[in-house]
Amino acid sequence: MVSEKANQIGASPTLKISAKAKAMKAEGIDVIDLSVGEPDFPTPERVKAAGVKAIQDNFTKYTENEGIPALKKAIIDRLAEDQGLSYTPAEVIVSSGAKSSLFHLFQALLNDGEEVIVPSPYWVTYPYSVALAKAKPIVVPTREEDGFLLTAESLRAAITPATKALILNNPSNPTGAAYSRQQLEALAEVIRGEDIFVVADEIYGKLVFDGFLFTSFAALGPDLKKKTVLIDGVSKSYSMTGWRIGYAAGPADIISAMAKIQSHTTSNACSVSQKASLEALRGPQHEVSRMVSDFQRRRNYCLMRLQSVPGLSCFKPLGAFYLFPNVSSFFDKEFQGARMRNSYGLSYYLLKEARVAVVPGDAFAANDHIRISYATSMENLEKGLDRIVTALAALRPSLKAKRAALQNTLTRVKKSVPVEPSITVPVRDALLAEMDSRLGPSHLYEWNVNIQGVIIRLRTNVPHLYDFWMENWYPAQLEGGLEPHGIILAVDGVAGREPRAFFNSETRTGFLVNTDAYGPLRSLALGMVMDTTERMLLSQGVRGMAAEVNGRVLALVGPPGTRKTELFFELLQDKRFRLHSAEQFFVRFAGNGPLAECAERKFFLPTNTVESMPALVPLFDGSKCENVVVRKEDCREVECLRGEDCRLDRGSLYCYKASKEAHVLLDPNWIGGPAAHSKKAPLGWVFLLRSDPTSPAVTEVDREEALRILEPGESPGLKKSLGPSKSQPFFNPHLLASSPERMELHKNLWRRLLQEVKVYLFNSGTGNAADIKKVVTGAAD
Ligand code: PMP
Repeated sequence: MVSEKANQIGASPTLKISAKAKAMKAEGIDVIDLSVGEPDFPTPERVKAAGVKAIQDNFTKYTENEGIPALKKAIIDRLAEDQGLSYTPAEVIVSSGAKSSLFHLFQALLNDGEEVIVPSPYWVTYPYSVALAKAKPIVVPTREEDGFLLTAESLRAAITPATKALILNNPSNPTGAAYSRQQLEALAEVIRGEDIFVVADEIYGKLVFDGFLFTSFAALGPDLKKKTVLIDGVSKSYSMTGWRIGYAAGPADIISAMAKIQSHTTSNACSVSQKASLEALRGPQHEVSRMVSDFQRRRNYCLMRLQSVPGLSCFKPLGAFYLFPNVSSFFDKEFQGARMRNSYGLSYYLLKEARVAVVPGDAFAANDHIRISYATSMENLEKGLDRIVTALAALRPSLKAKRAALQNTLTRVKKSVPVEPSITVPVRDALLAEMDSRLGPSHLYEWNVNIQGVIIRLRTNVPHLYDFWMENWYPAQLEGGLEPHGIILAVDGVAGREPRAFFNSETRTGFLVNTDAYGPLRSLALGMVMDTTERMLLSQGVRGMAAEVNGRVLALVGPPGTRKTELFFELLQDKRFRLHSAEQFFVRFAGNGPLAECAERKFFLPTNTVESMPALVPLFDGSKCENVVVRKEDCREVECLRGEDCRLDRGSLYCYKASKEAHVLLDPNWIGGPAAHSKKAPLGWVFLLRSDPTSPAVTEVDREEALRILEPGESPGLKKSLGPSKSQPFFNPHLLASSPERMELHKNLWRRLLQEVKVYLFNSGTGNAADIKKVVTGAAD
């Protein structure tokens, strides 16, 4: 299982597109790849020869941590010659590529929570690299009208007391925009007055056109040099991407901190590559000039072709080797019924239909654009642009009359949060005081609900939680002297606290801190209701899916991976079965046996339930949703991503399947009408689900054996794959397991329940819904 951090990092989209393009090429499809960020020129011969010589001389061992002295000197000399800058060896470090320099710099410079201003469109690595250093990227959009340059006003407006640095990529990837000395001076004026560093990524500094005079930010004056860490490398200027050499020049204390970090990541950059780079920087620089004039010719050609396309506009870049045309006028167009919709859709279309790989602008936080790299041969560019121009001309205005509106709320927190189920009364009192003080009279939302006869009051400052809370449960009177049995304070925006839930049973107080997702609130409420009704021996909570057949309820209970949802909806296809509960129900011990009661007014379902029941799609369309995926980048369905058939690519505005983190609040009466929903009926059967390839589909078990399975919450067939950490007592994540006594009480209630019903072990590895039907109806179908 990978870390949360790793899950949040998207792979470089350039890599993804290039991989797709490569896969198509491998299938024999002739794809023109305009997505790559590297020059197609060979590394200069003299540089390659220096690498070969290094190998022959056995220069193949570890080198100095911060780079070999000769290379550091060559870097210092080059910066002096090109920019009039003067650095000492202690102010320079050589790394395995500029990317690695940036990573070490952010680790060395940034404290948790500090802010880094990242003008957009940005190179994709910046925000991720900053986030990996636990700092906060603050994206400041630039405007096409301003030539994609950051203005002094927007820089000033973005600075807060938490700002630590500005990243200035000059010339820029992906726009090619370059700052003149005068434009840099305007930004420098703002920086001078602030305690802020500038990360000047000048890796494209030598690749500038039309006689543009490139100025390093560090060259604006000694005061700014002290605040600047200059990043450069040989990848782009010398066509040496694979050699992996980059460097940083800046204040000695920062460089020395980077060296310490580097000593634990890569040790030193490759010895052979260092020798080759030394040759690149030291020798005559005519290869660079040749490359620049070639790039300028290619830029002019591509620009001329793109500017002739109706509906497309393209900014004229002064540097790097990318064009960044605005293609938004094509988003409303379609090809064979599929709308382009966004930069991703258009890029996908170009890849599939025109066989040209480009990068969607969305990857750089500029969805109106695509990035076309002209770092490839003129021949490829001619072919590629022919194809792009033809493909864009083939798009037709979309016939789809209007966009479907989805009532979707995106939350910051997406998952369950840790729960502390047994805080003491003094801790509860302190939390109550802290949270209450944040719920001022304005922006306080309050509502009483009735869950299984227990009145719970929600007090929150999150409108979304209030909204879902009101829909999820039956209401209880709010005014008029009604005292709630329990209270939940859900407070978001509390500085210095992690998302977390707390519960104190004596006072029946729950707290939800810093989460705006509904799942944790619902779970806490269910836990509180169970705690209340079970202590009073009134009714017991059961996590499971329930359906009624012939006047009695059958429940499917078990861990994930046992096809519970699939089996459940398969049963519901049979008209003899009525929907009871989708996730949790309560069992009340009435005079004549256990009565299963559905407590929810609307069901909080994961939207990927559509996998088991596609007929739910139009019902979800009219329901309130949370975190439904509208961008492919937010999709976490690995299987689906591997496949080629994404509905978002095909013009769909959202995908219910895309994420397990998305939910819908669905009125159960909508599934088959009110008559097909049973709210209360005697419990007849409990099926404990497992999944293995061999055991029989259905086995009747006695109560004590069922308890042995329920209590640890493992399943015989799944034990190994889930592991003990994934076990869930009684398969019920809502249970606020505060003490052994509390668990014993829950177990005894189960014991009482199981006495009255038939219990079966059901193996979804060998059985199917028909086997369950046979047991509960006495006939196969
Ligand atoms: N900065 C920018 C703006 C880039 O575009 C790139 C390469 N795409 C790099 C840094 C990293 O270059 P390298 O790691 O190859 O030195």
